[in-house]
Amino acid sequence: MSGSVPDCIFCKIVAGDIPAEVLARNDHAVAFRDVNPQAPFHALVVPVDHQPDAAASAAADPAVLGHMVTLADEVANASGNEDYRLVANTGAGAGQSVFHTHLHVLGATTSMTETLV
Ligand code: AMP
Repeated sequence: MSGSVPDCIFCKIVAGDIPAEVLARNDHAVAFRDVNPQAPFHALVVPVDHQPDAAASAAADPAVLGHMVTLADEVANASGNEDYRLVANTGAGAGQSVFHTHLHVLGATTSMTETLV
């Protein structure tokens, strides 16, 4: 599975078909604020190409996870968080509710006043 999946909410955000507060993007991934933040800074980083979870993205293209971590580091640093958590819930039993690969980027402070895009 790759590219865009019609009923996937994160594919729609990547395509710009539904609104999101996009913070940064590169050729492979997009970072946007989580609509229901669980920390002072809470962003999601998703790959452009749809896969259901991080393991599937790694199997399809291991480099994409590196691009996602690089983008996560950029938005965390830009928000004033040198230190931050990355979380990838995998499977409904672990709390995954959107089945398009994503990293939660969680930081203790939010000083980000401008987006990187
Ligand atoms: P997970 O439970 O790990 O699958 O995380 C999914 C995350 O997506 C949750 O933290 C939601 O708050 C977030 N979310 C769902 N819909 C949107 C949206 N339209 N824009 C931003 N974040 C969203």
